Amino acid sequence: MHEFNDEVESLAHEILAYSLARLKDNPPLDGPQTPEELFARVGNTITENGLGGHEALKVFTDTLALACISTDHPRYLSFIPSAPSEHANLFDLVVGSSALYGGSWLEGAGAVFAENQALRWISDLAGLPQTSGGVFVQGGTIGNLSALVAARVHAREKYPDVSRWVVACSSEAHSSIQSAADIMDVLVLNVPANSDGVMTGENFSQSVDAYLAANPSHRIFAVVATAGTTNLGIIDDLDGVGQAAIARDIWFHVDGAYGLAALCALSVRPLFNGVERADSFIVDPHKWLFAPFDACALIYRNPAIAKKAHTQHASYLDTLEDPNEWNPSDYAIHLTRRARGLPFWFSLAANGTREYSSAMQQTLDIAQHAARLVTAHPELELLYEPKLSIVAFKRNGWDSAQYEAWSDKLLADQIGFVVPSAHKGEPILRFAIVNPWTTEKDISDILATL
Ligand SMILES: *Cc1c(COP(=O)(O)O)cnc(C)c1O
Repeated sequence: MHEFNDEVESLAHEILAYSLARLKDNPPLDGPQTPEELFARVGNTITENGLGGHEALKVFTDTLALACISTDHPRYLSFIPSAPSEHANLFDLVVGSSALYGGSWLEGAGAVFAENQALRWISDLAGLPQTSGGVFVQGGTIGNLSALVAARVHAREKYPDVSRWVVACSSEAHSSIQSAADIMDVLVLNVPANSDGVMTGENFSQSVDAYLAANPSHRIFAVVATAGTTNLGIIDDLDGVGQAAIARDIWFHVDGAYGLAALCALSVRPLFNGVERADSFIVDPHKWLFAPFDACALIYRNPAIAKKAHTQHASYLDTLEDPNEWNPSDYAIHLTRRARGLPFWFSLAANGTREYSSAMQQTLDIAQHAARLVTAHPELELLYEPKLSIVAFKRNGWDSAQYEAWSDKLLADQIGFVVPSAHKGEPILRFAIVNPWTTEKDISDILATL
């Protein structure tokens, strides 16, 4: 190890050739296998003498890779898929071979500088002030948690005599908010969404005021509005909730892990009006901004608050503290960090922002097309006119088992990957379209099986 010998040289060619082929060709969908099946194929791969690079690579390319669903396949429409651009994926190879450290300015100034320009683009799209700033974290779950921790540290300074801390969010909010609340040992106030699934400013104000009247020693330190719910793509009333939050000195956090990516599409930009009021927000470039896993942009209106909440102090770290230097580690729950925003930055720098807008618009157009096809299908019922790129619908007369069986067969036949979800206690199907490769034909091929 630690020697660039002939074996490494030839392995390098193999790995680059594999990577290039994977980038170039449409990937197969593939699918999971059981541990027993995988063991039968590859056995124990960890041995005293090692397999050698060539053999270990073969284990991956011939077996393990085929047991991983290609999340960038144009007919992978489950959950929220991923669709990294060629530029972003290629640059990930550079990041992987460069031992970059993205935690501090001292060690990674060039990388941090580039990441910060990418964050600035997002922050400007949202309309936050030039003094805003943030960091790329692993995912929306860590992003939401880090923002809420900063909000609570800030609230504790202002309101020392609180018996219970509470975070408000709509009943449609992402599961990571409940998870953050559990970790922080705070309560969740569920604000009922209106009949369209939207948390309005009015509903939020009423819920908060009623709750505090009944629990005067509690304090609501933050509200999370969702800009594009994961299940249906619904956008809360950001303007109304933001105004009501600010009037009550409640931190306004916007969870746009999926949806805020569409800030760069002019056609839907007005849906996000009010996001400029946010104290913090997140968006995952690994979801709908064409970056590889894993990258969530976490942005604060006033980064000094986050820095106070998150900076770790130790004798061996204090040398990093220079008030004029931006240390990404100081803005979330982490210390060591990969410069995970760089593949996104590179693609943005190389392609330019206009390409992002048009790729985004392409996915929005396909979602509209898919909604029309669903509406025209005799057996399907569209649940909701898609505002973004999630198309949710029901199949007449099917129970859960039929949805599951259809979904399993769709994957087994390598036609598509669409898992059932649920809405109001009933099974549904949904297409999450984030991939500019997904065509009208991909959608109609899947619908033909229903
Ligand atoms: C996906 C998602 C999250 C969680 O993000 P991860 O990157 O999966 O941790 C949070 N909120 C919303 C609205 C999401 O869609």
